[in-house]
Amino acid sequence: MIDKYYINKLLQAARHPADEEIQAILDKARKRKRLNDMDVAMLLNAHKPEQLEQIYDIAGCLKDEIYGSRVVIFAPLYISNYCVNNCKYCGYRRDNKFPRKKLTQSAIKEQAITLEKLGHKRLALEVGESPKETPIDYVVESIKTIYDNSSIRRINVNIAATTVDDYKKLKDVGIGTYILFQETYDPDAFKDQHPKSIKGDYEYHLHAFDRAFEAGIDDVGAGVLFGLANWKFEVMSLLIHNRYLEDTYGVGFHTISVPRLKKAEGMSLEDYPNIISDEQFKRLVTVLRLAVPYVGLILSTRETKEMREELIQRGVSQISAGSKTDVGGYHEDIEEAHEPDQFELSDERSVLEVNKDLISRNLIPSYCTACYRKGRTGDRFMRLAKGGTIGLICEPNALMTLTEYVMDYGDQELIESGLKFIFNHAEKIRHQTVKDKLKTNIYRIIKGERDLYF
Ligand code: SAM
Ligand code: SF4
Repeated sequence: MIDKYYINKLLQAARHPADEEIQAILDKARKRKRLNDMDVAMLLNAHKPEQLEQIYDIAGCLKDEIYGSRVVIFAPLYISNYCVNNCKYCGYRRDNKFPRKKLTQSAIKEQAITLEKLGHKRLALEVGESPKETPIDYVVESIKTIYDNSSIRRINVNIAATTVDDYKKLKDVGIGTYILFQETYDPDAFKDQHPKSIKGDYEYHLHAFDRAFEAGIDDVGAGVLFGLANWKFEVMSLLIHNRYLEDTYGVGFHTISVPRLKKAEGMSLEDYPNIISDEQFKRLVTVLRLAVPYVGLILSTRETKEMREELIQRGVSQISAGSKTDVGGYHEDIEEAHEPDQFELSDERSVLEVNKDLISRNLIPSYCTACYRKGRTGDRFMRLAKGGTIGLICEPNALMTLTEYVMDYGDQELIESGLKFIFNHAEKIRHQTVKDKLKTNIYRIIKGERDLYF
């Protein structure tokens, strides 16, 4: 699926795109027409400031048209840092010696309740790979514990590549998205970064989503750890992987994550010549938005507040907030002991602060999980998204979940400004029946009803 020679040849051939060529590609992107590999390679090589501005602007327009002002909020939950792998970039790698920890079911319940008290409804469950300490049954039990003991409504799962049978178990317990980062699509860099480990098998890792689809999972999220290899090569590969899944299974990635390599215990960023600049990062996010307008783009707290705010305007549709990347990191008492982190964070604002900042920028923090719970996943979701129908219900759903958030977790200031903001947005909904129903539902939520959605 990933042909290094083919991709490098394309990138080489696209090195000096003519102005007219770039313009034609941008016109295509603006109309949401599918870009081919050469189009993307040329956009990645566009270099004139006015061309970059246009890429940013079109990404912003597509974001607006497809996702409106909504930004989906979630939190990662690390439940174990046992790991048999030795990924050179990761603080949890096998060679880093520190007391390892995995959470008991009662500790997981506590974490879920603490996350619930922060207002979260969506989690990304993160687990190191250890067949002995954290076999699939532990992961499945942990998911059940969270669903049974909290109001968390959707658990996306980020665990190592595994077998069809394991994926069936994840499917049966009702996960949201199965997330797996390829880390790097460059086979040589992959081999170098994953020495002597289960994860070192490039082909097995690359075909994990095929096994997930075989097991009946139809909602998968990809990612690249930017900084391990040439970023242009990675973007091309992500898109080729996505197209392969669309062609083979009728549905591609639901989301793409774009983590950038951060400092972690036992590694030095100086060993990574492919670290990317902020400008390159903005380019790759916006080119992805143009190339796959309907795929959710996820930005984590590895990025700064400023970068997150800028990219939300230009294509990012989901962000994590108030994140902890140590095992059992969510405490009501912030003085509690701190475990080793997987990597350093750049945005340490609380969820409340993030939400207030988003609202002040006229963006709607969304806790919606309706599609997943109504079975609008896989190709069904994509059909609705591409047909534009989904937009009709997404904004009302976002506003209803925000009302819940404001009433349950907001301070006095947010209750006042948030409700005003919510009613202002509700008023702008064009479809009269939807608007009336939404306003009725907002009042029902203010009076105490919960979990209303379309
Ligand atoms: N152990 C599983 C795996 O490797 O697929 C689960 C996910 S791991 C806990 C989450 C992700 O963190 C990895 O896929 C990797 O991309 C990212 N990560 C590891 N070290 C990092 C670093 N130094 N900076 C940024 N992200 C990092
Ligand atoms: Fe383990 Fe995942 Fe870290 Fe690799 S990235 S060492 S597999 S936790």
